[in-house]
Amino acid sequence: VTQEDPRRRSLRDAGLKVTASRVGVLELLQRVNKPITHAEVAEHLGDAGWDRATLYRNLIDLSDAGLLNRVSLGSVWHFEAATKHGGGHPHFVCVECGSVRCTPELRVRLPKTKSAPRALRRGEVELQLHGVCDRCAAA
Ligand SMILES: [Zn+2]
Ligand SMILES: [Zn+2]
Repeated sequence: VTQEDPRRRSLRDAGLKVTASRVGVLELLQRVNKPITHAEVAEHLGDAGWDRATLYRNLIDLSDAGLLNRVSLGSVWHFEAATKHGGGHPHFVCVECGSVRCTPELRVRLPKTKSAPRALRRGEVELQLHGVCDRCAAA
């Protein structure tokens, strides 16, 4: 008995039909290990023969199923594998080159008090840190 690809299984567990492009998108986002845009996904997977519309639908379907986190960065949606660091971690955005990095080492406890906005209590907020990335700082 061969071991089933864990990505195929997580698609099925999430109630999604297993397609080659969905497996490809999930595999890519688990590999890059940071949030990337639809355009970047298309750039990585364009050679595989899937068109941009298919890849975009996959990103939305996988996000709705909870397999990806949708992160709004610089007014552009970015997508990351939900399994990597879990949701709710802040993202570090470089003010010079715009590169994005997850910061799972930083945990922020959101307030549960009634006076806080509802979105904050539900964790439906984006936490972002702005600064200069290592590469730009060294340049
Ligand atoms: Zn930078
Ligand atoms: Zn992240």
